[in-house]
Amino acid sequence: MARIVQKYGGTSVGDVERIKNVANRIKAVREAGNEVVVVVSARSGVTNELIARAKSLHPSPPDRELDQLVSIGEQETIALTAIALDAIGVLAKSYTGAQAGITTDKVYTKAKITGIDGKSIEKDLQAGKVVIVAGFQGIDDEGQVTTLGRGGSDLTAIALAAAIKADKCEIYTDVDGVYTADPRVVKDAKKLQEISYDEMLELASLGSKVMQTRSVEFAAKYNVIFEVRSSFNTNPGTIVKQEVAYMEKVVVRGVAVDKDQAKVVVSRIADKPGTAAAVFRALAEANINVDMIVQNVGHDGVANLTFTVPQSETLKAEKALAPVLKAVGGTVTLDDKIAKLSVVGVGMRTHSGVASTLFTALADAGINLELISTSEIKISVVIAKDKADDAARAAHKAFALEKL
Ligand code: ADP
Ligand code: ASP
Ligand code: MG
Repeated sequence: MARIVQKYGGTSVGDVERIKNVANRIKAVREAGNEVVVVVSARSGVTNELIARAKSLHPSPPDRELDQLVSIGEQETIALTAIALDAIGVLAKSYTGAQAGITTDKVYTKAKITGIDGKSIEKDLQAGKVVIVAGFQGIDDEGQVTTLGRGGSDLTAIALAAAIKADKCEIYTDVDGVYTADPRVVKDAKKLQEISYDEMLELASLGSKVMQTRSVEFAAKYNVIFEVRSSFNTNPGTIVKQEVAYMEKVVVRGVAVDKDQAKVVVSRIADKPGTAAAVFRALAEANINVDMIVQNVGHDGVANLTFTVPQSETLKAEKALAPVLKAVGGTVTLDDKIAKLSVVGVGMRTHSGVASTLFTALADAGINLELISTSEIKISVVIAKDKADDAARAAHKAFALEKL
């Protein structure tokens, strides 16, 4: 007997037929004698639809109300999954995030989990029930509903697996693992048998939506080994785990594209100590994630600062910057017709020439580089959004990832 946490994403519970499929899969695992905790997402499209509805009423809806709204997506699927299980004779009980004892801080729309009180779940498992938990949501210490950031059901699953000391954590989605690139874009992308937390973390944070970034961070911190698999077949998936020595033999393990970024240029700000600090303090105080910061060489006492932010946060960024620019001068321009392309691999630590291979491949494909940034295990470039898919294919080919 094992204790297993399974997470089914939006496509996997996208309609009644698919929920029946999920219920049958759960039944088989339960009847094999395992304890099963299941996390489900909202039906695919529902979260987006709810957000769009809110935005049709208000350009920037209050975050608390957004969380109140989008949390209903998962509340629907937990109940439907429990009902589908009951219909085939499996004891099951659904839990909202609050009922499951998932507590968070108060940062609406991207709350952090502060604790999980697994007592009720434990009791139901002892009683032989399958426990179905709503992904993506929690409750703060004042009883307010919070959500964990888009894709946050992955985090619910991994945090639960850690909290209830599960033997296995399986993330079921609509592809059968983590590929060397998004298989919808790069047709000859290869499924990876395994990948390190660090690589998965970079790929996720650089746009590979297959896993939510924070869920991978959490898994690495608590050493939760998990497998990404398909809910539509029984193929083995990709194991995500701590790095082992042989992983460094592969220089680049994956290509990621993020089309949800925007470039912000703050032009002609005072070139003196404290200006950049003031700009980024204002953005940090507004909880905006900034990346790829470049400052040009100052001239005539002024300089330009360029950086990227998530597209969904451009309005917030503009608002946050207004008082600073009043004080230090300068103007803001936004460009959302950009994408970030990245190559990732722990092998970059010990191999050279990665940048030159990437830049040559992109140059040969006629793609201009607007910003470049590197870290120990990744290289990212900002390019025109309409060239992003071509760039992903060119990079994939340049590193021969189809042969991994
Ligand atoms: P779920 O709703 O199950 O959470 P997501 O849509 O969040 O599923 O994630 C799965 C999708 O991630 C796939 O359909 C695929 O298009 C996309 N994806 C992006 N990059 C990768 C990658 N490197 N490997 C696998 N899938 C990827
Ligand atoms: N339903 C949420 C979203 O679409 C959470 C998830 O699917 O993981 O972002
Ligand atoms: Mg997802």
